[in-house]
Amino acid sequence: MKSKSARISPSEACDRAISRMLPDASESERSYVLYRALKEAGGASALMYPQFITCPSCGKRMLPSESRGEGRFCRGCRAWVEKAVA
Ligand SMILES: [Zn+2]
Repeated sequence: MKSKSARISPSEACDRAISRMLPDASESERSYVLYRALKEAGGASALMYPQFITCPSCGKRMLPSESRGEGRFCRGCRAWVEKAVA
């Protein structure tokens, strides 16, 4: 059987990959797999958890990119960084 080599979108490719891995997966199961895959890649987690940027103090990527107040603490070295720093 010749498979179609026409261009498919990444989401379609992903869907097909899931279909191959989980032929009996329901729609909701598939979205869960997609969700997990996204989470692994940092996609969904970026929406749910604060993203971290490189700390100017210790150089580790442990400084939350979002702050709730006037600034934030580095999760690594606990340095206080003012809100203005991007
Ligand atoms: Zn730090």
